[in-house]
Amino acid sequence: MSSRIIQIPIPNPYFEGSSNTYAVEIGEGKLLLIDTGIGTDDAFAHFRRDLESHGYVLKDISVVFLTHKHSDHFGMAHKIREISGARVYVHEDDWNDVAHYTERRDEVAELYRKTMLFWGISPEAVQMFSVMRQNFDALAHSVPAEKLCDGQKLKIGNSQFAVIHTPGHTQGSVCFLCDEKIFTGDHLLPNYTPNIGATDITVGKMLSKFLNSSEKIRPYSELEALPGHGKSMKNFASRIDTIVQHHHERQEKILRILSDRKPHTIVEIARALFGTMREHHLLLGCGEVHAHLEMLQEKGCVELREENRFVRVD
Ligand SMILES: [Zn+2]
Ligand SMILES: [Zn+2]
Repeated sequence: MSSRIIQIPIPNPYFEGSSNTYAVEIGEGKLLLIDTGIGTDDAFAHFRRDLESHGYVLKDISVVFLTHKHSDHFGMAHKIREISGARVYVHEDDWNDVAHYTERRDEVAELYRKTMLFWGISPEAVQMFSVMRQNFDALAHSVPAEKLCDGQKLKIGNSQFAVIHTPGHTQGSVCFLCDEKIFTGDHLLPNYTPNIGATDITVGKMLSKFLNSSEKIRPYSELEALPGHGKSMKNFASRIDTIVQHHHERQEKILRILSDRKPHTIVEIARALFGTMREHHLLLGCGEVHAHLEMLQEKGCVELREENRFVRVD
């Protein structure tokens, strides 16, 4: 028998609109939550109200599974855990940024600062981002969590879950299989391609990882996919094809921009691709270009010169 799943969208004024929380009924009146939404008071009040409208209270949550380390997916986890005592699980590669979110804030901010300068963003704009990031500090807090790994199977209450590690959007992104459903987090979304390259800068080569991860979930494309944002998807193989094609076309465009055989910074290439990018779009655009350039480097099509400029060599 398949478990009932309650979808609770959590409003989020900061990122891609509302994010989805899924409450899975696991028997004996208990719930397992997949993702939590951001950690603001508003989001929390909304979640509590919505949960109660379905006949549940926070104490009914016994387990929280996180698809990845972004604050719009785990921000509320510490509050839920405090009230319900729920056990929280996240993939081992995203664990540090979830369990030590608050403690790592300065370290992560410094990593972004250095990376943005490498991308060729002006020091003034980098400074503006540092100030902007501080507004996001309150969206999540560290939460004690247990580590998941690829292929792990967990029986929670009446339900069986399997973990599929799908690095790309973040290094520790996972999809969860349960009954005839697959929870895809931000790895596979119905309305836009998830950002690759700016949303986790702790490690590299994210685009090739993302494309491999997409092939890894293709065998499950007959299942209903429940994403981190937007509506559920059926027969999602065509959605994977669209996203793969999108990245292929973007790669071709980047190669055309570099066809003058002159060295270019990442921000120059991003501006040629996307035009003027405002606020966090500058970050997302540059990260995406960087991810593509890393893949083109692996293929021997481009080389890094003069510290932070890329030149076409194929
Ligand atoms: Zn995300
Ligand atoms: Zn998201």
